[in-house]
Amino acid sequence: MGFVVAIDGPAGSGKGTITKLVAEKRNLVAIDTGAMYRCITLDCLNNNIKPTDIDGINKILDKIKIELKLENGEQKFFLNDKDVGSQIRTKKIDDYVSLFAAIKEVRDKVTPMQQKMGDNQNIIMEGRDIGTVVFPNADVKIFLDCSAEERARRRFIQNQKEGIQTSYEEILNNVIERERINSTRDIAPFVKADDAIVVDSTNMSIDEVVETILKIIDEKLEK
Ligand code: C5P
Repeated sequence: MGFVVAIDGPAGSGKGTITKLVAEKRNLVAIDTGAMYRCITLDCLNNNIKPTDIDGINKILDKIKIELKLENGEQKFFLNDKDVGSQIRTKKIDDYVSLFAAIKEVRDKVTPMQQKMGDNQNIIMEGRDIGTVVFPNADVKIFLDCSAEERARRRFIQNQKEGIQTSYEEILNNVIERERINSTRDIAPFVKADDAIVVDSTNMSIDEVVETILKIIDEKLEK
């Protein structure tokens, strides 16, 4: 196994941005596991399969092909040979992904794929169950926390920039509900690993969070 940094945290905690920056600075391969659940959700919805239809989901999982390719240092996800980068970030996928991600068959498919990615390369993997289930023996485990209000505020500002009309209250309810589903599911719930180091990004800049995490990684590398 290579060197593994696990980062778990809720949507809007800055996980994605921070993972990419830390990866660049320490030459690690960044892996966004949420994107894999998003790919499965997209494939199911494109085939009119609902989260309650386990037979339908199994058929999709039998033939699904999810690939992560690095193009000019950027992660690109391919679903069944198609670049689905923007299609997996829509509101519809946001609304459904936690429901598909709670299904045992879905996690049984994705978890071994993620574990394999750590076989022969040094990685920083972000998600909800990386430090608890995917890599319980990760070299570094970070739990990137952030208040729901701040996460909603960040999403609200981002939506405004993109011209998407949603109220702050609607976003706040949505971020709370989504992580409620993630945290209370039976399989691989989103919880802090006992030995994870908590970094709370609520009142920190991106640079501050990156510096904090680099310091934690470097301390481990020096040992
Ligand atoms: O991180 P992101 O918001 O893109 O993840 C989308 C969804 O995928 C999460 O809300 C969660 O339901 C699921 N997920 C998960 N386990 C992971 C990563 C993501 O269940 N390791």
